[in-house]
Order: sequence, then structure tokens, then C-alpha cells
Amino acid sequence: MQHHQLFPELSRLRATFQQGVTREAAWRRAQLQALEMFLVEREVQIAAALHQDLRKSSAESFLTETGYLRGEIRFALKHLKRWMKPHRVSVPLIYRPAKAASLREPYGVVLIIGAWNYPLQLCLEPLISAIAAGNCAVIKPSEYAPYTASLLAHELPRYLDTNAISVIEAGVEESKKLLQERFDYIFYTGSEAVGREVMLAAARHVTPLTLELGGKCPCIVDDDADITVAARRIVWAKLLNAGQTCLAPDYILVHESRETELINAMQHAIRNFYGDNPQQSPDYPRIINAHHVERLAALLNGELIACGGVADAADRYIAPTILRGVSPDSPLMESEIFGPLLPVITYAKLAEALAIINKGKTPLAVYLFSSNRAVQQMVLRNTRSGGLCINDLLLHAALPALPFGGVGASGFGRYHGRAGFETFSFQRSVLHRHIFPDPDVRYPPYHRWKVRLLRWLSGGG
Ligand code: NAD
Repeated sequence: MQHHQLFPELSRLRATFQQGVTREAAWRRAQLQALEMFLVEREVQIAAALHQDLRKSSAESFLTETGYLRGEIRFALKHLKRWMKPHRVSVPLIYRPAKAASLREPYGVVLIIGAWNYPLQLCLEPLISAIAAGNCAVIKPSEYAPYTASLLAHELPRYLDTNAISVIEAGVEESKKLLQERFDYIFYTGSEAVGREVMLAAARHVTPLTLELGGKCPCIVDDDADITVAARRIVWAKLLNAGQTCLAPDYILVHESRETELINAMQHAIRNFYGDNPQQSPDYPRIINAHHVERLAALLNGELIACGGVADAADRYIAPTILRGVSPDSPLMESEIFGPLLPVITYAKLAEALAIINKGKTPLAVYLFSSNRAVQQMVLRNTRSGGLCINDLLLHAALPALPFGGVGASGFGRYHGRAGFETFSFQRSVLHRHIFPDPDVRYPPYHRWKVRLLRWLSGGG
């Protein structure tokens, strides 16, 4: 018996699950609809919180958080019935007459730990999957995005079944205590270092988990690329949320013949999107906190700045910055940048670019700008990553029908759409036999005729 003195809501959630409330399709639908209602009715409040935490524009908040989540909810509602259907399988002759199926069963009480960069989406997207699969859930938003965390803790319970879904605000120490509790599944988004801690804590209770981690996502621009389109798409993907996106292009590998053209086109795109002084643009977000501003500013030391390079700690501002002539051994290439600094590295042969990618840890995504089929195949075959997007960036993660997640250092497990439903449920195999007939053949003593019959029935001759 566990005693939840620290987190009394856990006993309540467990009781709800045991009563079977969350297994009902009607409950799942009602909660998903209520979650959409929260996103619709509280859109302005949510946008205000995201603005305070990260100075996201309301357009960006809609695009990457509220609007995006609503699309996922509608997708789940549309497909839920099909996802929940038992998967009937045929029964071999020897076991007939019988019916066999695998069912998708909810785990029970799941824990969702979100990161600060998409503080709403990273908590609620897994919640959609958890609800669709029939679980109770505890959400632990990131304390580094305090306005969004507080909004989730205070407003979300007004919409959802609080006997089944709970939001716990917690910093590092309290999160560690929370992880000492037994959960039936843990879904973690954040850095690799903390992911390891979460995995250790999960091991204590043999709790299955998903780790959605980060990494350095490379973007290759090969010699045949359409530079104008590539530049616009790269700049958009890099500066969304001021580069604080797990899927942002971390660095560019460009064919040496196109370097100058690409850098000029990216500068042009930055000016077009954010004006001459991006600090004045209402569309350009801020860095989450002073610590990260300092970390990013330090990365500029000794690098050749093609544009940007301005840091204003008081305003948590780092200008969109392109760095040219970057060496693969630069400190910029050591860990995930997670900010608006874009190193550009040149290569003469594609193999050199692939070698740089493969020297590093496995990224969440690889990007390629090239319309050459052979080049596309070569990048697909010779790199490893959670996703690959050709001639664009980020969008492969926006399709609800495509599973999303990492591999190697970028994590494991998949979600979005059906993949999320499957992550939050397990396959329970059910065989249903009839009482009659009950032939003697399976029982000892095994006379020769029985063995012969059994061999024939099982197809083994
Ligand atoms: P963070 O600091 O917000 O930490 C993530 C969560 O872990 C928070 O809720 C935090 O409270 C909790 N936490 C911190 N220390 C803990 C501990 N010792 N025990 C238990 N919980 C603890 O976010 P972060 O780690 O700075 O996130 C940034 C990283 O996340 C980047 O590497 C980024 O690429 C990655 N990320 C990945 C995805 C993805 O979908 N794969 C999405 C967003 C971010």
C-alpha cells in the first residue's frame, strides 16, 4: 500500500481508474471536447501567458500551441473509435474453436512532464493521447515557463474531470519526489541529462516510459537547392520561438559553391520577417531566462558573425545571428544551441557533410534541401534520426498521421495521432475458447495416434 501524503491527488486518480470511469469511450470523448473548449475559450489568456513567458506572438501561439493542439484533438476524436477497436486475429486449426483479439488497454495513472519551450503544447499533446487511450493523468509543467504553468494549474481543472486529471506545479526537488511515486507510464520531454534521471526513477518501479529529448538537427543545403526558398524556410524554422525548438535546424551544412548566396538570402529573409531591428518586432520571441541569454552570448566568442550578434540580457533578447566559416570543432558544435544562432559550415562533397552529422549524437531530425533523387536517397540511407524532412523543416512533425519522436540520444517512443494512442496503451491479448468440445488428444497419456494427430493439426506433418 502506498501513502500519498505529499501528493494526495494520486490516490484519488488511482481510485478513479480502478472504477473504470476513464475506460469508457464516452468519457474520453467528453474530456477531449472539454480540452478543446479550454483552448477555444481561453485562447486569449493562453496567448498572454505564452507572451509573458517567451514573448511569443499570438499568431505563433496559435500556430504552434493552441491551433495545433486543436487539430490533434479533432484528429483523435475522428479516429478514436477505430483506434479502440479490438484487433481480431485468426486462430490456427489446432486451437479452434476460439476467438482471439488484442485489445488496447490504458496503463492507468500516467505522468506527463513537460519542457518550457512549448510549455502548453508539450503538456497537452501527450494529454490528448493519454485521454484517448483511457488513462488518468498527472501533468507536471515546466517551472521555467511560470505563467503557462500557473494557467494550466488553475484553469485547466475547470474544464476537465479532476478525479482523473491533475496538474501539479513543481520545481526540481518536488519533481524528484513526484518521481518516487509509482506511475503506470511516464512521458518526459526535455533534456537528455534530466531524461536519464527520469529513466532511473522509472526503473525503480519498472515503469515504462517515453523520452522526448533534443539534439543538434542538421540542415544540408546541397548545390542544386533553390536558395531563395531554402533561406526563407530555414530562417522561419530557426527563428520560430527564437530558436528554442527541439526540431529547429541547429546548424547548416552548405555546399561551398552556395555559401555566400545562402547567407545573403537568409539575411534578406530575416529583414523581411522581422525588420531592420528584430528587437522591435512584435513577432520575435525572447529567450526563456537570463541564464540562457548568457549561455548563448558566450557561444559567440571568437566566431565570425555574418549578421546579428547582439545580446540584451535585460530584455532577454538575442538577435537572429548567422555565423559563417564555422569549424566543425567549434564550441558551437558541441551541444544543442537552442537559440537564434545559426552556424554555417561548408562542404565540398556530400560525404563530408554526412561524416559531420554522423560524428555527433543521433538528432531528432535531419533536413535536406535538394531535388536530386540520388542525393535524397544518400542522405536517407546514410544518416539516422527520428524524422527526415526534405525541402522543408519542422512540418513532418505537424502531421498527426506521422509518428513523432527521437532515436538514440534524441530519445525513444512515438506520439502524435495514433502513435500517441498506442504509446499510452498496451496490447492485452485475449483468447476466448469454448468449453465444448474438449477432445482427449491434448491430454496424456500421449499415445502414438495422439502425437500423429497433433503433428498433423499443427501443420508439422
Ligand atoms: P526543462 O528545464 O523545462 O526540464 C524539463 C522538465 O523536467 C521540467 O518539467 C522540469 O521541471 C523537469 N525536471 C528538471 N529536473 C528534473 C529532475 N531532476 N527530476 C525530474 N524532473 C526534472 O527543459 P529542458 O530540459 O531545458 O528542455 C530543453 C530540452 O528539451 C532541449 O534539449 C530540447 O531539445 C528538448 N525538447 C525536446 C522535445 C521533443 O519533443 N523531443 C520538445 C521540446 C524540447
